[in-house]
Amino acid sequence: MDAYRAWADINVDALTQNLKVIRNAIGDKVHVMLVVKADAYGHGAVAVAHHATRAGVTAFGVGTSTEALELRHGGICAPILVLGTIVDEEVVACLHHDIHIGLHSMNRCRTLQAAARRQGRIARVHLNVDTGMGRLGVLPERATELLREIHAASHLELAGIMTHISSPKGDSVAGIASQTSKFEEVLANARAEDLVSGWVHMSNSAGLFSGTSPLYDAVRVGISAYGVVPRDATWGSDLTPVMALRTRIIFLKDLPSGSTVGYDGTWTADGKRRIATLPVGYNDGVPWRLSNRGEVLVHGQRAPIVGRVSMDYTTIDVTDIKGVGVDDVATIIGNDGDETILLRDVASHAETIPYEIACSIGKRVARVFRDSDSFGGSASNQKRVFAEEGTPESAPLLATE
Ligand SMILES: *Cc1c(COP(=O)(O)O)cnc(C)c1O
Repeated sequence: MDAYRAWADINVDALTQNLKVIRNAIGDKVHVMLVVKADAYGHGAVAVAHHATRAGVTAFGVGTSTEALELRHGGICAPILVLGTIVDEEVVACLHHDIHIGLHSMNRCRTLQAAARRQGRIARVHLNVDTGMGRLGVLPERATELLREIHAASHLELAGIMTHISSPKGDSVAGIASQTSKFEEVLANARAEDLVSGWVHMSNSAGLFSGTSPLYDAVRVGISAYGVVPRDATWGSDLTPVMALRTRIIFLKDLPSGSTVGYDGTWTADGKRRIATLPVGYNDGVPWRLSNRGEVLVHGQRAPIVGRVSMDYTTIDVTDIKGVGVDDVATIIGNDGDETILLRDVASHAETIPYEIACSIGKRVARVFRDSDSFGGSASNQKRVFAEEGTPESAPLLATE
């Protein structure tokens, strides 16, 4: 990983703080299952999970068995749930490492029972009830049947009953209410037959921060813990962004009027312009959609992205910013001086959701874990920390033209 080309600062104090905000809202009795799928939304799953464990998180949610095993091998002993489902090839490893598995069909139930029996292990499953997501999950009217099957199976243990809210924006209060009542009905039927065990869970960040979803035994939060306030949240303005994404200018040049920049020549200099090249592109979390419309921060000021964002490089116009030099830090997400660019701002410029931006920060971007003191908030501070860590910063990679 090229920490000197681009790095994502992960402020672990902000993570702790956000988890505290969530804890204060849910009280002592409800568990926090931190969702760390997609490498903890690009933040670095293993390190995030360790910090979160210290901050009181008691379970983790992931997308695949590979992600679950990465946590196990990284020393995470807490329960880990594959939120969606697994495919047959993942069964053996999941059972071997005691990974909880979302369950949604009779077929799956039988395969798991057979595999667990063969391995002499217990498969811990969470029944996923589809109350409106329409994706995975058993339809409410078939849930009881499946619960009976789970309880009857010698090598299955019901570790939870869950449903997933389909409006992550939280703007559909009515939608959440309807999902809740379907879920409640399933729970009532299950209780009547004494089929409930483990944790009941439903709420994601949207459910929690819109105050519209019951908490039950656990909340499954992702984006809010990373400091993005869910849209239409009725509270949570005290969440703090955990990630900042930064890079350095590697080349500066003065282009004469009429020059074009980038693929397809979509931007033309309308006068003499000073163009800085950044060694980050859409593999590093600068969406292609920011071509000719996004901004980055340099010296605490906004510099427009000009031309197309490419896979490895992005060009910005720094004509109006004084004293810019090669090696200066550019902030794509985060603050620099008094200016801030939020994950949400990048997402709205790119006409997408913050989730997608965070997940698009590729693996060549180094994740650098810091506490608030060294996280600072000023790009110059960053530079100092990096210099101390011995990253080459003096010799420009390319000469200024
Ligand atoms: C991703 C996911 C979550 C977390 O959602 P956020 O909006 O990030 O809080 C919760 N539950 C399930 C099933 C998920 O897939």
